[in-house]
Amino acid sequence: MSILKVARMGHPVLRAKARPIEKAEIRGAAIQTLIDDMLHTMAEYHGVGLAAPQVHESVRLFVAALDHHDDDDGDDDGDERPEKAPVAIINPEILVVGSDVIEDWEGCLSIPDIRGRVPRAREIRVRGYDRHGERIELRAHGFPARVVQHETDHLDGVLFVDRMRSFGSLTFLDEYSRYWIKD
Ligand SMILES: [Zn+2]
Repeated sequence: MSILKVARMGHPVLRAKARPIEKAEIRGAAIQTLIDDMLHTMAEYHGVGLAAPQVHESVRLFVAALDHHDDDDGDDDGDERPEKAPVAIINPEILVVGSDVIEDWEGCLSIPDIRGRVPRAREIRVRGYDRHGERIELRAHGFPARVVQHETDHLDGVLFVDRMRSFGSLTFLDEYSRYWIKD
């Protein structure tokens, strides 16, 4: 497995609309290797999600750790569940559930050391293929739903800064840690 170079904001690949992956292509070596390398790259850089355009591959695929402790309810009771393996989702299609929108902090490996507050749907369903070419549908709310929306945006050339209501919360990581992180 390889650690891939991550494209940074300004690289045109991050602004392109990525192409769908053919079902027959999914089990092929090219896509399987790409998924393995993306998982490796995401872990190396401590990301919670990584979309293929971020590693210069303009195809509709992302990997994400969707079991992140969801403190949406505000009770940070420390009941961290054991970590599940990150998933790969191919040709994701998002369906928003309900009309709740929540604003929270996001970062991006393609926009290093910057954080900003982004409104996202609280609850979604996402349909697509898994890495075995099987149809999957997942339901997510809170932080994992945010990650899915952020990563799917990458496949359409959209970055989190595009979704911010204002740049008033745009913050460098040091200042984020110093002034904005919740204890
Ligand atoms: Zn990102």
